[in-house]
Amino acid sequence: MTDILSPEQRSLVMSRVRGGDTKPELILRSGLHRLGIRFTLANRRLPGQPDLVFPKYRSVAFVHGCYWHRHPGCKDATTPKSNTEFWARKFAENVERDRRAQERLIAAGWRVMVVWECQLVRQTCETIRKVWLWLRDAAPSTAPLDYDESLIDRGRLLSVAEKRVKFRISSYKRPHAGLPKGEKGDK
Ligand SMILES: [Zn+2]
Repeated sequence: MTDILSPEQRSLVMSRVRGGDTKPELILRSGLHRLGIRFTLANRRLPGQPDLVFPKYRSVAFVHGCYWHRHPGCKDATTPKSNTEFWARKFAENVERDRRAQERLIAAGWRVMVVWECQLVRQTCETIRKVWLWLRDAAPSTAPLDYDESLIDRGRLLSVAEKRVKFRISSYKRPHAGLPKGEKGDK
């Protein structure tokens, strides 16, 4: 579905699926899960509601959409051609809100990582490995992590994430929709 919608439309769809998981989020979550890393989701009590919380590593990760959160230098961070001022202000507010949330988290002793949508979609394996390395830096010495490259299959991660997002959107439209074929939820 991502290819037939503009970033604005896509974000609109996503914002309507309240509490819904975005594709990049799902990619990161299943990748880390496969590597044996455990986390909790979107903790509302933490500033900015980080998408993933790793209590054991005192770390949080935000999975940011390049468009709304303005990934610096990214080709996905386009600006609409009309109402330019309105959008510039809106984007600046988003960036400022993110910055404040990160500051508050760091002040509270959390390690903070921002993972960009484009990185997860286009450089899936490298990005998951980067997050894993970052977590390992904070791993208690009693619980060393193992990185098993063979667990991370980009094609599989992408297709699973896509199916789940489609399911979320179709179940938003049709609350009683069943699970898509071949998908039985979390394994
Ligand atoms: Zn980007």
